[in-house]
Amino acid sequence: MTTTEPAANQFRPQLVFDDPAAERRHLLDALSRAFWHFSALGFDEGIAGIITVRDPEHADTFWTNPIDIPFGHMSPGKLIRSHGPTGDTLEGEGVVNLAAFAIHAEIHAARPDTQAVIHLHTDYGRAYSSLGRLLEPLTQDHTAFFEDHVLFDEFTGIVFDRSEAKRIAATLGPRKGVILQNHGLVSVAESLEAAVWWFTAFDTCCHISLLAEAAGTPTLLDEEVARLTARQIGTHQVGYASARRLLARALPSPRPAD
Ligand SMILES: [Zn+2]
Repeated sequence: MTTTEPAANQFRPQLVFDDPAAERRHLLDALSRAFWHFSALGFDEGIAGIITVRDPEHADTFWTNPIDIPFGHMSPGKLIRSHGPTGDTLEGEGVVNLAAFAIHAEIHAARPDTQAVIHLHTDYGRAYSSLGRLLEPLTQDHTAFFEDHVLFDEFTGIVFDRSEAKRIAATLGPRKGVILQNHGLVSVAESLEAAVWWFTAFDTCCHISLLAEAAGTPTLLDEEVARLTARQIGTHQVGYASARRLLARALPSPRPAD
């Protein structure tokens, strides 16, 4: 018998925690590893770049990175917990990128299902964002974003204003990613792991599209095939399982003192 749908037990199940403190320890370790992973990819640029992770106990607060710590130096003890509605720091030391945090806080508020939101300034994401259009279904991997990402085309400068952050959240809707035109990429997911995978794949798809479209006129997948493949590889389970492998092998660079 053949089937086009993935088996429910094909992937390792998501970790489940009874104790919020144990879940928080896991999340902070995974968040540090996410920064190491993105550092290795060269996605750490100046003070741009932020990941927010919802605290398992205090749902309107989010763990994030201080702007003066290089991604490769991150560790659980260096992360900051900030209050979503106000941006106030509740735990940890350092300065948070408040413009980026405003966007994330509004996305988290509009999407209670999201555990993590990621926004980094990548070369391919920024280059593709300047084209002002969605990714086309060029390859199997692109289909994870087929009908599951949007374009926000109202760049008006650095976003400190929460009303613009609210518009970005409204434009994103229930999808896993948004291309901020003339700015870059944002991924969201119900687990940190899946958000890491979608962000990584989002940027890779932008890279592939730029290459293919510069070389010629790519052949697009049929819409029905793209939709079917999206149901196979665009699921949270796939994103979670894919990132577990990435994060398990991520290393700090250089190794932090603590
Ligand atoms: Zn940005």
